[in-house]
This record gives sequence, structure tokens and C-alpha cells, in this order.
Amino acid sequence: AGRRLPLPSSHDELRSLAGALNDLLARRDEAADRLRRFTGDAAHELRSPVASIRVQAEVAVAHPDPDLAQEVLTDVMRESERLSSLVDGLLTLARSDAGEVPPAEPVDLAAAAVSAAARYPDGPSVVVHVPAGLCWVLAAPSEVDLVLDNLLRNACRHARSRITVTVIGGAAASRLVVDDDGEGIAPEHRKKVLDRFYRVQDDRARSSGGTGLGLALVAEVVRRRGGAVRVGESPEGGARFLVSWRSVSVV
Ligand code: ADP
Repeated sequence: AGRRLPLPSSHDELRSLAGALNDLLARRDEAADRLRRFTGDAAHELRSPVASIRVQAEVAVAHPDPDLAQEVLTDVMRESERLSSLVDGLLTLARSDAGEVPPAEPVDLAAAAVSAAARYPDGPSVVVHVPAGLCWVLAAPSEVDLVLDNLLRNACRHARSRITVTVIGGAAASRLVVDDDGEGIAPEHRKKVLDRFYRVQDDRARSSGGTGLGLALVAEVVRRRGGAVRVGESPEGGARFLVSWRSVSVV
């Protein structure tokens, strides 16, 4: 917007202009394809909890029975929760796609990691290693919490018994490493798990209430700050998620 190409005055300039235009068109087509796929996937994902709620409600109405009603309502509640986290996730992604980004400030990654781990008192034990002193990164506090919560929730879902959270401060970038001792993620899936709606095993993730958006949200909020997310293998053979943000020195 606002940019103007100079008017061509020779054949060569005309050729390079045509080249630039073709690149632009190709990129526009790719963006349109991505958007179409995303809209289709989102509709598909929203349809399944809605359909399930509807079928359950129909069953409950057709067979009035208090025991059945209890069971049906529990299911309906679970599906409604999934639906609402899907909608929340879609809204966050839509805002980010539209360039709506909360302001960045220095966030103490070490403190955020310690308090996030305390939000997971049940299930596998969470061991936290943080550097002595503070570790400032440039991000919105809500983004750092989103990253920690999603990685810890996934780790809890997959770990056998132990999760390790490590924060490493650095002059240019600081890193968060979340390791678990679960089944891990095979190399061919490691890049793709960061894509919207990608799941390694469909049924299991759905029945555990997953939306397939968690890691896409993590990648989105980290990358828009110039950070990076990498997926690998933990020393115990489970999954390792490595997130880096730009460091800031606070005086
Ligand atoms: P979901 O809501 O399905 O968990 P995510 O985007 O959070 O969506 O994760 C995408 C997929 O990545 C999951 O369905 C799962 O297959 C895989 N995954 C994520 N975290 C782990 C982990 N710690 N160990 C093994 N697999 C994982």
C-alpha cells in the first residue's frame, strides 16, 4: 500500500516488471489457497462438536431417564468446552492475521515458567530449571502464558511420569525448553504439528478435548515477535519443544 513502481522505459524494465507482477500473483494465489483451506478446516472442526451436542440432546429428549440425562449432560458439557476453546483459538488467530497484536513489554520468562508449572499440580511431576536472577524477553505477558500453558497441557497429556521445563537466558535470545518422557513426535510430524488443525493421531487428541490449534497458536504468537519454535526429541525419547524470544536488558 502506498508503494509505486517506476514506469518502465525499456524492454528489460518491462520484462522485470512482468516478473515482479507474476511473483505477486503467485503469492496472492497461495494466500487465497491458504485462506480457503483454513476456512474449510475450521468449519469441519466446528461441525463435529456441534453435531455431537445436537445428537446427544436429541437422545436425551427422546429417552427421558435421569441416569442417561446425567451422562448426556456430561458429554454435552465436554463438547461445549471444546467448542468454546476452538472459537477462542480461531478468534486469537483471526486477530493476529489481521495484525492486531498486544503491545510488547519485558516479561520475566523465569518467573512466568515457575508460575505456569504451579498451575499443573496434578498428573506428571513438573521439574523447573531457571537461571538465578531474572530473564527478560520482549513479548506480551499473555503470549508467554499461552505458550507455557499449551506446552505444559500437551506435555501432561503425553508424558509418562515427568516433565522438565528449562529456561536459558542469553544476551540476544532467551530460550524455553519443555521436555516430556512420553511417546515423542516422529521426525516427519515435527514441523507439521505447528500447523493449524494438524494432529498426529486424530481420535486420541479429539477425545482428550484437543482442538488441533494449540501449537499453531504457540507458533503464531512467538513468530510475530521474531522468535522461533522448534520441535525435537527429549533426552528420555519424548517430545522436546524449544521456544526462543528476543532478550531485553532492563536497567
Ligand atoms: P491438540 O489440541 O490436538 O493437542 P496441538 O496443536 O496442541 O493440538 O498439538 C498438535 C498435535 O501434536 C497433537 O494432536 C499431538 O498429536 C502432537 N503433540 C503435541 N504435543 C505433544 C507431546 N508433548 N508429545 C507427543 N505429541 C504431541
